[in-house]
Amino acid sequence: MKKIALVTGASSGIGKSCVEIFAKNGINIIAVARRLERLIELKDNVENRYGVKLLPVQLDITDKTAVSDYLTNLPDDWKDIEILINNAGLSRGLDKLQDGNIDDWEEMIDVNIKGLLYVTKAILPGMVKRNSGTVVNLSSIAGHETYIGGNVYCATKAAVLHLSKAMRMDVLGHNIRVISIDPGMVETEFSIVRFHGDKEKADKVYENITPLTPDDVANAVYFTVSLPQHVTIEDMVIMPTQQASATLNIKNYK
Ligand code: NAP
Repeated sequence: MKKIALVTGASSGIGKSCVEIFAKNGINIIAVARRLERLIELKDNVENRYGVKLLPVQLDITDKTAVSDYLTNLPDDWKDIEILINNAGLSRGLDKLQDGNIDDWEEMIDVNIKGLLYVTKAILPGMVKRNSGTVVNLSSIAGHETYIGGNVYCATKAAVLHLSKAMRMDVLGHNIRVISIDPGMVETEFSIVRFHGDKEKADKVYENITPLTPDDVANAVYFTVSLPQHVTIEDMVIMPTQQASATLNIKNYK
């Protein structure tokens, strides 16, 4: 029987690349995001190419009732999730705290921390019961270091690092791996979302530098998951070679 991986934020960027690499390796996918049309396109694509099944799930992970109702009542064939990839996340704005927008703060906290917790709460008990599973949480270099204007985003990603540590302790003895993947700059829709749809401003972030691609990160995710179950890569920081810290990169290096 094929394993099942649930990927949040499967409609774009790193999540979409994770779907592709896991599907390519014969794993059935539950793909979660709000933009259903993208998930349906992904379903047609991976089912035709790789002969796996993909269940598209339109869900806003900040809606705790919807998350619980749907994910704790999955069709029988989809219940035994072996791999959970908590990838959905976003940044909003780059304002200093004193100039910050409270709606932006709340959205980041709601998706990056609370949404991750709601999804995990629905899936982790099954892993504990079956004594088997792998959880991958997407943190960031921003969870290790902060930068001007990064305030709340960095705080949410630091929270994800701590939640990964806490989960590892809480599930010890249940044969469950908890892996944190912490990338530097990756070219996805991340900056478009950060700058509220300003594509020109977003494109500038990736000018004159070679950032990571979403496939680079997804390959790292797959590598950690493909190791034997007794091996846990606790925390993998993965950076573009042209970036040496959250703030230092080839563009501002003198
Ligand atoms: P992206 O291309 O913008 O993708 C973000 C994904 O999250 C989308 O599929 C989006 O789907 C989903 N999402 C956002 N809010 C959601 C919600 N309320 N409910 C369900 N899904 C939601 O960005 P990305 O770069 O791939 O980001 C993936 C993860 O990597 C994030 O956790 C991010 O913090 C982390 N990360 C990114 C970078 C980077 O430089 N790009 C660096 C380090 C870490 P819908 O809009 O369709 O719902």
